[in-house]
Amino acid sequence: MENCLFCKIIKGEIPSAKVLENDQVYAFRDINPQAPTHVLVVPKKHVSSVAEIDQLSDAEIAACLKAVKQIAAEESLSDGFRVVSNCGPDACQSVPHLHFHILGGRKMGDRMA
Ligand code: AMP
Ligand code: ZN
Repeated sequence: MENCLFCKIIKGEIPSAKVLENDQVYAFRDINPQAPTHVLVVPKKHVSSVAEIDQLSDAEIAACLKAVKQIAAEESLSDGFRVVSNCGPDACQSVPHLHFHILGGRKMGDRMA
């Protein structure tokens, strides 16, 4: 996707604070963190959101969630963390490349929306 911000980050055309990278997944710190730890996990293959997740292989989907688990451990989020994937306008998705927010390092609010 030529004009996709996260595709450009994955390709290194836009700088990012990389946290993890493997064949299927790239993870980096959110530029506007909403918690002490705020990391974005994205599949390297462009799909717009969870609504198009069937365009990923099972291995690519699993790689995203395994990356979430690995990053949570590496960031010492042993007291817990929140995983969020905004999907579409009602969820205020602002970047149309599937991503999972990992939020942690403090007690989250008890309301999710
Ligand atoms: P969403 O609103 O769920 O689509 O999340 C998009 C996230 O991308 C927001 O939390 C932004 O702060 C974050 N973001 C936007 N541009 C960048 C960037 N250049 N580097 C890192 N994070 C970014
Ligand atoms: Zn993309």
